[in-house]
Amino acid sequence: MLPLSEMSTKESHNIKAILFDLDGTFVSKEGLKSNAYGKLELVRQKGLKTVAVTGRSAGWCDLIARWWPVDAVVGENGAFFFFKSKNKIVRRTFYDLKEQNKNRKKLSSLFEKLKSHFPNIRSASDQFSRQWDLAIDISEETSVSKEEILKIINFAEDKGACTAISNIHLNIWFGDYTKEQMSLKVLEELGLHKKNILYVGDSPNDSPMFNCFDTTVGVSSVKNYGELMSIYPKYITKGNDSEGFVELINFLISTR
Ligand SMILES: [Mg+2]
Repeated sequence: MLPLSEMSTKESHNIKAILFDLDGTFVSKEGLKSNAYGKLELVRQKGLKTVAVTGRSAGWCDLIARWWPVDAVVGENGAFFFFKSKNKIVRRTFYDLKEQNKNRKKLSSLFEKLKSHFPNIRSASDQFSRQWDLAIDISEETSVSKEEILKIINFAEDKGACTAISNIHLNIWFGDYTKEQMSLKVLEELGLHKKNILYVGDSPNDSPMFNCFDTTVGVSSVKNYGELMSIYPKYITKGNDSEGFVELINFLISTR
């Protein structure tokens, strides 16, 4: 990974939209900071589009689409994206609702099996507002060892489920969709091309996004994941979580 300062002015000028992860990237452990939120408003004033891409729940994404300075939000690891159009929230799911409901039933049955094999696991505190995804809390309100996380992943994947690890949750779902596939659908909706995208993230679940786009940035904690991280971003910030995000926006603005 290169220091962010190595990004050329040409590469920076090429960027028309910033796709960004939330937990551990835009939002710090303590919560959402005004400095980061203000930068989001600033980049939109500069004419760039903003898209949040997260494993967080449909309920949270509904609020983000309605209130935040974003052009769209991809949620539950690609199950859907929401955006506001003429004051109405438009909700697009990857599959039609019949298919998504079938997947949800399979997921409930898998969760029962997981609980009997791993009695200490707990669903994430925002599980009640999820529609298509199961989030196991690994470090938000409880803690699960790396070894146990890998065992849970093997168990779930053996049953045909998809998995992704963020800095706080292990997400599990049925359905052949990913954050990057859904992000590409958002770009179509917004009339953007993937060569004009910058993606910033912090964790192993961002690896597919780092693989999908040319200009990618990791906040500094991205280097802490060892073998859990398969693909690294092109650039890395000095700062962690939202400080890294702010550093990135300051850099991009400074080149304009
Ligand atoms: Mg993250």
